[in-house]
Amino acid sequence: MSDKTKFIFITGGVVSSLGKGLASASLASILQARGFKVRMRKLDPYLNVDPGTMSPYQHGEVYVTDDGAETDLDLGHYERFSGVACHKTDSITSGKIYQRVIDKERHGDYLGATIQVVPHVTNEIKDFILSDISDEDFVLCEIGGTVGDIEGQPFLEAIRQVAYDLGRDRAMFIHVTLLPYIPTAGELKTKPTQHSVKKLQEYGIQPDMVLCRSQCPIPQNEKKKIALFCNIREENVIAALDVDNIYQVPVAYSHEGMDRQVCKHFGIECDGDPDLSKWEKIVDIIRHPAGEVKIAVVGKYMQLLEAYKSIHEALVHGGIANKYKVKIKWVDSELLEKSEPDIYLSDVSGILVPGGFGQRGTNGKIEAVKYARENNIPFLGICYGMQMAVIETMRDVAGVANAYTTELNPNCEPVVGLMTEWEKDGDKEKRTQDGDLGGTMRLGAYPCILAKDSLVRKIYGTDKISERHRHRYEVNIKYEKQLNDAGMVITGKSPDGRLPEIVEIPAHPWFIGVQFHPELKSKPFDPHPLFVSFVKAAIDKQNKK
Ligand code: GLN
Repeated sequence: MSDKTKFIFITGGVVSSLGKGLASASLASILQARGFKVRMRKLDPYLNVDPGTMSPYQHGEVYVTDDGAETDLDLGHYERFSGVACHKTDSITSGKIYQRVIDKERHGDYLGATIQVVPHVTNEIKDFILSDISDEDFVLCEIGGTVGDIEGQPFLEAIRQVAYDLGRDRAMFIHVTLLPYIPTAGELKTKPTQHSVKKLQEYGIQPDMVLCRSQCPIPQNEKKKIALFCNIREENVIAALDVDNIYQVPVAYSHEGMDRQVCKHFGIECDGDPDLSKWEKIVDIIRHPAGEVKIAVVGKYMQLLEAYKSIHEALVHGGIANKYKVKIKWVDSELLEKSEPDIYLSDVSGILVPGGFGQRGTNGKIEAVKYARENNIPFLGICYGMQMAVIETMRDVAGVANAYTTELNPNCEPVVGLMTEWEKDGDKEKRTQDGDLGGTMRLGAYPCILAKDSLVRKIYGTDKISERHRHRYEVNIKYEKQLNDAGMVITGKSPDGRLPEIVEIPAHPWFIGVQFHPELKSKPFDPHPLFVSFVKAAIDKQNKK
């Protein structure tokens, strides 16, 4: 680590779901616009080793990095806003920290000591914060949860110590809070922010900046009050007003002087304004699209759309590239099991079936695939969605009625089955039928070879790609001939030719299923080619209607 690397710690108070991840990612992007090199990290105080085994209803989508870490969805914001790829070393939980401490204790590494939260757990957190950093100017560390949570205490103690060790000229604390608006009083209330900062001070942390989420502009006298009671410079009370789209946030924060004040904190000279033209361009397209196209996402986690965060964003990016607004129609796949799909899908110009696990809603997903295939509606199947597409063709075109996945029925025709052995970087990875569920999927980036003359080769403009995976089951290559005869071609395979990665139906205007998750790599200023092409196909379909 270079001794010029500076650390910015972002905590949250008052309530959860304040968008700390988005705030951190936006700050990173404006610092980048000022020419700094940034790195972003998330410290989650919950006891799961990673969010991989959590229901999407608990924590939204599980984001996967190239190196195969299953992480919080905030890392998705980090990558989308900064373009900097996150690694395993950028995501930690209490579960992982305790696992490391206990492993060391069992191994005898502590030489007879009594193992305690301070210093053993806090030291492990500090090691994580300071590890794997090279020449970054800023490392932004977001602490999950809300100040006052019991699990969060060791993390607050650890960041306090890091700031103590490095000196305050290399560390900064930013606290994100909420100013609730009380309509009957016609006022924004600062008291919860004052209390939250007091709580932070109890842990020995004096925030250098507060970022106040608010639904309306914050009067200067209220900013003054927050500054005085929270012991913060008035210019460092930053308003974070609600905006109509998230890509406006970097511009809004910079307008409020956030980056200037951060630089000032560290004694860095900063002349002029950062170049935020790429963000302004994106916001302009979102606000003034050439048209609108409706695309259905047929999934099962409809009560918490955070479960499909990256898919949502990737569709928005595909829209931006085509200068169109993508209107997403969220369709609960179980509804397609109870009534005619036409009722829900006749008004859309594209159908996307995302990833998923388990039985619930799968028959509805298969119905959605069938509807897209038979009605020539552009179709993108992702992971489970691709597996369902293969099952649909095997059943409805090839006539294999019990074609299914062994995930749901071990006695089916196993078109999709459990992979017990595969290659990663030249080594063999193995799993067993009754092995652990946590961290044992085929995870992270794998290469894929695209077939000559395929649609995907045209879309990607290359014959070798790398995409991120998160799944346990695979389409079995032995059904290739049967699928071909039924009009479905495997156009992407692992380099050894054993694992189908992409399927297409050449006779259909746009029908692609991918075993990987392209949505994880899409960025507003670097949209994923599959999403650009899918949205374009949907626009073409709509214009033909
Ligand atoms: N349940 C499927 C599998 O494990 C698909 C997973 C996914 O969609 N991410 O293979």
